[in-house]
Amino acid sequence: MTVVVRVRDLVRRFTQKGVLNGIDLDIRQGEFVALLGRSGSGKSTLLRALADLDHEAVGSGELLVPERLSVVFQDARLLPWKRVLDNVILGLDGPDRRHRGREALAEVELSGREQSWPYELSGGEQQRVALARSLVRRPALLLADEPFGALDALTRIRMHVLLRRLSAAHHPAVLLVTHDVDEAIELADRVVVLDDGRIVADITVGLAAPGVERRERFAALQHEL
Ligand code: ADP
Ligand code: MG
Repeated sequence: MTVVVRVRDLVRRFTQKGVLNGIDLDIRQGEFVALLGRSGSGKSTLLRALADLDHEAVGSGELLVPERLSVVFQDARLLPWKRVLDNVILGLDGPDRRHRGREALAEVELSGREQSWPYELSGGEQQRVALARSLVRRPALLLADEPFGALDALTRIRMHVLLRRLSAAHHPAVLLVTHDVDEAIELADRVVVLDDGRIVADITVGLAAPGVERRERFAALQHEL
């Protein structure tokens, strides 16, 4: 399968101490990868390097990413002075952009909220708008940095179901940063563990495995954390 992300010997530092200390990582088309690791292990730094958002860091290495990539952060980062639909289609062109935006909002179960203002939505709804804004661009790579970290447990479960459905429908490669082992096991078909700026585990299960078996096959993770 086509490799959409290729990282070779990636090194990044802000001070003398390295934050990424030689990362090698390939992600193939349609693969759903969770990047798991303790706070401070370098997850966001890796994601920001992939998104070309790390200009304050110095370093070296090789990075290949697709042109069409979208990023979702922990906060939705909607423009408060634009209505929901206008947030989703911001920067898109083509005569069908409003239609595509409405379809994307329907996919995240927000039909009818097109003309709402961001402040009128709950945190979970705002995050769904952010997902719609990402997916309407048909990205080859979706980068998500703890996108559900600020949501309550029930909303998070609902978002898990939604994200799995969206990734099955659109097959972007996904790199989901999380420090939540259960979230990683629940969502990803491959879990990569980062510790002190190095990959210390890389386990593939595949979404075909049912719940219990997935958990067993990811059991090796416990030793890495
Ligand atoms: P994680 O996302 O895994 O919690 P980060 O990648 O955010 O970890 O951070 C890894 C390390 O890099 C931390 O020690 C953090 O303080 C440092 N760091 C991250 N961003 C910056 C920055 N812009 N300037 C200085 N240090 C940073
Ligand atoms: Mg982080």
